[in-house]
Amino acid sequence: MTVASNKIHGSSEPKAVFRQNGQLSHSLSSNGSEVVVLVNAEGTVTYVSPSIITLLGYTLEEIVGCHIRFLIHPDDFDATQWGSGKTEADSSLYDEYREYRLRCKDGSWRSFEGSRTNLLQVPGVGAIVGTFRTVTQQKLTLPVQRSQMHASEHFVQFYEEDESLLDSLSSFIGTGLAAGDACVVVATMEHRKRLEERLKATGLDLNAAQARDEYIARDAGETLSLFMVDGLPAPECFTEVIGGIIERAAQNRRHVRIFGEMVALLWMEENQSAAIRLEELWNDLHHNPHHFSLFCSYPMHCFASETYGRQFAEICLQHSHVLPAESYSALLNADERLRAISLLQQKARSLEAEIAARKQAEEALLYMAAIVESSDDAILSKNLDGIITSWNAAAERMYGYSAQEIVGLPVTVLFLPERQEEFTQIMTRILQGESVDHYETKRVRKDGIVLTVSITVSPIKDNTGVIIGASAIARDITEQKRLEAKFRQLFDSNLIGVFVLDFAGTFLDANNALLDLLGYTRTELQAGVMQRDTLTPPEFHLLSQEAMGKLQETGSFGPYEKEYLHKSGRRVPVLLAATRIEQTNTCLGFALDITERKELDKRKDEFISMASHELKTPVTSLKGFLNLLQRSLTVQGDEKALHYLTRMNTQVNRLTNLINDLLDLSKMHTGKLAYREELFAMDALVQEIMENVQETTQTHRLLLEGQTQAEVLGDRDRIGQVLINFLNNAIKYSPQADIVRVRVAKEQNKVLVSVQDFGIGIAQEHQQKIFERFYQVSDSEEKTYPGLGIGLYISFDIIKRHGGQVWVESQKGKGSTFHFALPLVEEERR
Ligand code: ADP
Repeated sequence: MTVASNKIHGSSEPKAVFRQNGQLSHSLSSNGSEVVVLVNAEGTVTYVSPSIITLLGYTLEEIVGCHIRFLIHPDDFDATQWGSGKTEADSSLYDEYREYRLRCKDGSWRSFEGSRTNLLQVPGVGAIVGTFRTVTQQKLTLPVQRSQMHASEHFVQFYEEDESLLDSLSSFIGTGLAAGDACVVVATMEHRKRLEERLKATGLDLNAAQARDEYIARDAGETLSLFMVDGLPAPECFTEVIGGIIERAAQNRRHVRIFGEMVALLWMEENQSAAIRLEELWNDLHHNPHHFSLFCSYPMHCFASETYGRQFAEICLQHSHVLPAESYSALLNADERLRAISLLQQKARSLEAEIAARKQAEEALLYMAAIVESSDDAILSKNLDGIITSWNAAAERMYGYSAQEIVGLPVTVLFLPERQEEFTQIMTRILQGESVDHYETKRVRKDGIVLTVSITVSPIKDNTGVIIGASAIARDITEQKRLEAKFRQLFDSNLIGVFVLDFAGTFLDANNALLDLLGYTRTELQAGVMQRDTLTPPEFHLLSQEAMGKLQETGSFGPYEKEYLHKSGRRVPVLLAATRIEQTNTCLGFALDITERKELDKRKDEFISMASHELKTPVTSLKGFLNLLQRSLTVQGDEKALHYLTRMNTQVNRLTNLINDLLDLSKMHTGKLAYREELFAMDALVQEIMENVQETTQTHRLLLEGQTQAEVLGDRDRIGQVLINFLNNAIKYSPQADIVRVRVAKEQNKVLVSVQDFGIGIAQEHQQKIFERFYQVSDSEEKTYPGLGIGLYISFDIIKRHGGQVWVESQKGKGSTFHFALPLVEEERR
């Protein structure tokens, strides 16, 4: 059965218990030759001292969580005493030591003297404490008997007082000499002197023993110097020196006892690795043909620091037996042990808490370090002399120096020559415990480039509250400053009105250009007088609400045209655009005064209107006279003159069309374009127009597909005008083609008319714009076509006024299809 499968998982959190006991073990580890176990009410081991490693061969993890029954020999085991799940009330508090056999890892049994203390009812302990000490140890703590010693024993004693060491030592040497063993003492002069005094006091004739090489005394320091090379024991020299001594002592095949203090000397010199190495060499020497028992000792105070925990365990492992320091072994009565264990437990708890707090602090520090390292801001620390002590990755990027280069240099290497006094100014405040917040200044990069930075400097205090340095967090604001300056320039240039508006409609800031434009003073602006709603004429309210909606949705609006009301009541046409200022409910707006442009537009429209009227009159009479002339020449039969006349007529018609378009345009603008409302048959209109247009072209054939049988309500001539425009364009823009296809169809509640040509086509980016006024596609490769760029604009307006839609589908080089759709007349209106 393996140990693991033997585990009883009664302990709710074995790991936690184990961890907690890990701390306890620290305090208990001075009792290296004793196994201490803590067992819960169910009999499960919740703690075991690390000495079990050397004494029984288990790892701690193998035992913690096991039932104690596993360790104790069945004949020595009393279930009622070791937690059986039953009440422990009748179980005695403390047992005298008696023999226990414990199971070794290899399955053999080893004898111990064990005692049991029932602390189940003790708050904070809640365990049965079992203490099992090796029989050998029991004997060794009393005068050491040769008969009980293993031939090649290597044991160690930790001692607190010299007196305790000398007790063991004089007993070890005294009984050895008495038994006829040879004894070697490699000790300090002090210890040798006091040992010899004690031995002599028991009546031993040391001089005689010395003469027979039964008692050999050496100075530890001197002997050590014989084989130490470069701070470590040289194995060959060691074997030679120590082997020589043992050989001398072992003549006549005597058993040899050695007491050595060289390891302790090395340990006290803080050469721990040499001490451990020396222990190993001693152990190697056990392969020497002469058996010897070796007694080492270490003063306990050498292990005061918790950092020696691992080395302490290592020393324990180097020895076959470990004698605990006297203070614990001395506690032989139950009350004292109880108190000691409680104290140890309290110590362990507080240590555990301290370690947990330290770990937390360490984790927090690591976390902080990660933040510092990944920060985009340069973060550095300096001592009170201004010497840089730490430097993060962002500082490297920002200033161009690596941490290696700059740590150790004064922070003033980053300062401009003319700003060196800043250091004293900042440090004066730091020394007063103050921080310097968002201080804007200049710093120099390694490559000489001057940066504008915003710096926050704060004092760093040690854990007693004394200021020992300062931390500085710097942000490169060079670019931000440049942008700010540019923006200021734009703001102050007054080329365009610039303002900051909140979403509720209050002007928060504005440049002089905007104030001038609207007739307000800065004081009025600051008093909150300027409100978008009162500055906007009623008919523009909807438009400006839509614009604000778009701003909130997409982050910007415009540019679009609107009017503001000047303080005097005068209307000011403006072109307006705005963009949201990130993460605020405000926007930055631009208002361009377009009064002049509007004025010019108005004058141009007036001119077009006037010119087309002026042109229309002579052209109309020209047309009249042409008709007269045509009739008279027909009578005369002058074919040649009639031919010229027909051509003149075509040109006059074109002129009339152009003038009509211009007139329509100006009427549309002033809202004076009148529409008649009549019911008409779509199919007939299409037929008629196609015939008329067909007459004007010899190059293209106009083909009609489909019929609608539909009637439309509206201005027949105007709708006809749209179709004419589509057809004329189709012919004009497809010079290489010879057909134009017209399709009519009824779709749901609409009539659809489409004109398809196979001409030059229109690139995607122009397809929306061709419906704007005066827009003509101009392409450097394309030849120019005659026209004014208003036909589609007028068509669009006509169809829109009839509640219909106009659109185009086209691909450059592949021809275009222009469509218009008109609503069908409902049955009852017919
Ligand atoms: P225009 O008098 O210039 O033809 P329109 O308003 O009728 O004015 O058309 C606007 C512009 O749209 C034209 O200048 C031309 O660039 C483009 N266009 C219109 N119809 C077509 C077409 N069928 N094929 C290619 N381009 C066209």
